[in-house]
Amino acid sequence: MNQGRSSLVRDEKLIFELSKPGRQGYSLPKLDLSPQPLEKLLPPSYIRDDIAGFPEVSEVEVVRHFTRLSTWNYGIDTGLYPLGSCTMKYNPKVNEQVSTLEEFAISHPYQPEELSQGNLKVMKTLEEFLAEITGMDRVSLQVVAGAHGELVGLMLIRAYHDFRGEKKTKVLIPDSAHGTNPASAYFAGYQVEEIPSNSEGRIDLDHLRQVVNQEVAALMLTNPNTLGLFEEEILQIAEIIHHSGGLIYCDGANMNALMGIAKPGDMGIDVLHLNLHKTFSTPHGGGGPGGGAVAVNRALEPFLPVPLVEKGDRGYYLNYDRPNSIGKVRSFYGNFAVMVKALAYILTMGGEGLRLVSEAAVVNANYIRKKLAGIYHLPYDLPNMHEVVFSDKIQAAKGVQTIDIAKRLMDYGFHPPTIYFPLIVHGALMIEPTETESIEELDAFIEAMKSIAIEAEENPELVRSAPHLTKVSRLDEVTAARKPVLRWQP
Ligand SMILES: *Cc1c(COP(=O)(O)O)cnc(C)c1O
Repeated sequence: MNQGRSSLVRDEKLIFELSKPGRQGYSLPKLDLSPQPLEKLLPPSYIRDDIAGFPEVSEVEVVRHFTRLSTWNYGIDTGLYPLGSCTMKYNPKVNEQVSTLEEFAISHPYQPEELSQGNLKVMKTLEEFLAEITGMDRVSLQVVAGAHGELVGLMLIRAYHDFRGEKKTKVLIPDSAHGTNPASAYFAGYQVEEIPSNSEGRIDLDHLRQVVNQEVAALMLTNPNTLGLFEEEILQIAEIIHHSGGLIYCDGANMNALMGIAKPGDMGIDVLHLNLHKTFSTPHGGGGPGGGAVAVNRALEPFLPVPLVEKGDRGYYLNYDRPNSIGKVRSFYGNFAVMVKALAYILTMGGEGLRLVSEAAVVNANYIRKKLAGIYHLPYDLPNMHEVVFSDKIQAAKGVQTIDIAKRLMDYGFHPPTIYFPLIVHGALMIEPTETESIEELDAFIEAMKSIAIEAEENPELVRSAPHLTKVSRLDEVTAARKPVLRWQP
């Protein structure tokens, strides 16, 4: 076991069980006014009935209870979070701080343009930076998630084909794609056709040539793809699709591998989304607000959602005069605080810094691949980009599977990687360390993975029954998801 990586966790009662009649969460001097009955101050409909069993606890009990509970959760501020395809990197707190500056935080979306010049400048500047980073012509910031960006991108593609009077029904998607891709295409009213990967984990060009026809509205691909591999034949792929009148949608959620090095706009991509909540400094995974900026080339620009921010003689303004637009896709202008964080991140990093981010993300993932090669099976043993996919093939011989390895990692103090995805790899373990991890943290993770491999060999039952040091051991996850018990029963 790594030193210092198992923690002091104490049993925590429910706050209801801590309750003692008469305890209270504050102590203030006695009121020097004569108390008024509540009924005299408020209409009866506003007065709540007594709550049965309402916990009565002191201030220190409340603070300690919730502080302890907060340590039961694992977050990027706690340690490495190597979930592949998620880019769970550390986000500098300064960007968070900038987004909560009063001038941003209390501005209101109904404020007139003259009084929102700073906000509009933030949006316009961010749009221009994202266009520069992706090599695309225009960007809509209204979209609030990756999957939302996919849907909007496909709506733009539909609007483009409709405008040209062309009826297209199909979207091609590689079998390694993120699950949201086929879901978005289907949601946008297209039939989905799957493209198999070749033995190198990339799009099979021969197969692509065979299935492309006039009915194909778009190919939706991810680059680097979900195996962490760069689609090296992207230019030929784009040519094949464009030749038959289709467009290329790029899922840009993996932009953390490319910044400052390669631009999707140079690869023949027509439309892509970015996950601002992966690459650009909004924490990912809290279920909180996100940003799925959609970037397009000139041909698709007329269809972008309204409004777009423009700069005129009298300053910045919101342009709604866009007759071919697909309309609005979100209330107001999207998640503004996410935009502020993205801009603050880009400005603090600078172009050189962003390039270093991507280089370090790629080096870190390759470091893990090299160090664990031979210890864990590599279904595609090729230089990877920002993430690397192993499988449980070696350990499975001893009856230890991916789920067991993931659970055992928790005993070593690490959040497990993404498991059983991408679907084309049996028993996948998908690791994305990101650029923000030091070599010491990577080495500690690698050591933990090595120890688990030895345990799987010598004492497979220990791994199969993990975790042992967590608050609860192996859970029945299906029942937990299907029949969650969320209510306190006295
Ligand atoms: C995260 C991710 C998405 C979905 O993004 P959300 O913001 O969760 O909707 C889509 N594609 C890829 C490749 C991703 O990694």
